[in-house]
Amino acid sequence: MQVAYIRKEKCNTAMCNRCVKFCPASRKDMPVIYIGRNKKATVVEELCNGCGKCVRICPEKAIEMKFIKDKAAPAAEAEEVKQEAPSKQTAPSQAAPAPAPKHKETPEEKKARKKSEHVNRVIRTAIACVLGMLAGLASFYLAGPMDAVTGVQPMPVIGLLVLVLAIVIQKTIFMIIRIDISKLGKKDWFYQGFMTFATWFLSWTMMLSTSFLPHV
Ligand code: SF4
Ligand code: SF4
Repeated sequence: MQVAYIRKEKCNTAMCNRCVKFCPASRKDMPVIYIGRNKKATVVEELCNGCGKCVRICPEKAIEMKFIKDKAAPAAEAEEVKQEAPSKQTAPSQAAPAPAPKHKETPEEKKARKKSEHVNRVIRTAIACVLGMLAGLASFYLAGPMDAVTGVQPMPVIGLLVLVLAIVIQKTIFMIIRIDISKLGKKDWFYQGFMTFATWFLSWTMMLSTSFLPHV
């Protein structure tokens, strides 16, 4: 049977921790992949079910699958065997593997995780702002020629549509550049939307008030 194997020299946890968050077999109290003291991702082989999904999500191509001879039962099976153990008196050689000890985050791991989260937050904010700015410019050009007296454009609703698009498209962009969005809550998405709205509003009103650029 196969299990995931991390090539430590390639693993760059400071930039992602993606496999740790991603592994579908991981449970909060029993992670299949965790960040070890050496700040590298580490697989608990007894819990890995060999699905291979983590191989595809590692940006550093640090995860490979390897065959192991005496692969113990996956976690679910292990728990089942454990429950049955008292009545069946399992022989030592057939005994269920002990579940991996609950992993407690060390200060170094915490620091690496915080750093990774911070980098991701900065990237997400930058994307929201750049999209907002571009949406503001697009709104200015697409909303029609500005009235010379009132300063109003005839189709402001187009600007709103552009703003909505700039907000909605962020999820897709994050997925394309492989930013983990599984942990993003309503607050995070609200923040993304707000930053896009703020920069959109600023750039559009700035264009309107200065009218430096010609209309199309
Ligand atoms: S996804 Fe790859 S680079 Fe990122 S922590 Fe896991 S093994 Fe390391
Ligand atoms: S192979 Fe599957 S179960 Fe094993 S660590 Fe990777 S994602 Fe998790």
